Amino acid sequence: MRFFVFTIFPGYFDCFKNYGIVSKAIKSGKVEINTVNLRDFTEDKHRTVDDVVYGGGPGMLLKPEPIFKAYDYVKTISKNPYVLITEPWGRRFDQEFAKELSQKQDIVIICGRYEGVDERVKSIVDEEVSIGDFILSGGEPAAVVIMDSVVRLIPQVLSEEESLKVDSFSDGLLGYPNYTRPPEFRGMKVPEVLLSGNHKLISLWRRFMQLKKTYEKRPDLLEKAVLSLEDKKMLEYIYKGKNFEDYLKGEKIA
Ligand code: SAH
Repeated sequence: MRFFVFTIFPGYFDCFKNYGIVSKAIKSGKVEINTVNLRDFTEDKHRTVDDVVYGGGPGMLLKPEPIFKAYDYVKTISKNPYVLITEPWGRRFDQEFAKELSQKQDIVIICGRYEGVDERVKSIVDEEVSIGDFILSGGEPAAVVIMDSVVRLIPQVLSEEESLKVDSFSDGLLGYPNYTRPPEFRGMKVPEVLLSGNHKLISLWRRFMQLKKTYEKRPDLLEKAVLSLEDKKMLEYIYKGKNFEDYLKGEKIA
């Protein structure tokens, strides 16, 4: 997958490209993150990328010409890139959106700055994307958020240990709680079941805890999640404020 990020601050992405999973994915050739400096597509000696807003009002706008020229340039490399623009009123970015984007070959992300971009730029845009109901000073942090979450969904980017399947949202629920050594720390114990070595019991406990966490923190997600009969039974216990042990007794499992 190739990203082409249109920005007036290409250096902004240096740090992002050099750490962790993203850096590994770039080194192994699974992803390219190309910054396209809009100033390289200007013609005046000041390399002007912005201009005043027609009709008056505060601030400046990104001019259309450098963005269209940068787009023409990308089209010489990629036949049919999917074009995103960061906008606070865009489609809300979430895991589903990230999954859709991870299927694309080439993605352009246009990062707005100042008051935003000239409206005519929308003629080359496939989707407007927002990372939440707040105002950033530019699209670059949004582009980083988008690329980071898409990169980890590209096949073979994550190793088995970092498997996607246990991530929150991957199956419509939040993830289960995890512990590492030591088994007791400052009086806080790792749940007994996790030390039991009983894999069937552990996976039941994890599912129960996923459902419980989702119910407590994001009940809205339960409405859309695909739930098995067993999940629904667990939820009956959770709704009544019962714990995993109660569920086990009721179920006579393990
Ligand atoms: N004048 C605009 C805000 C401009 S903020 C307004 O009133 O809505 C400058 C740029 O930051 C935007 O063009 C956009 O590219 C980016 N941006 C700001 N908030 C964002 C958000 N929540 N999600 C994605 N991009 C955002």
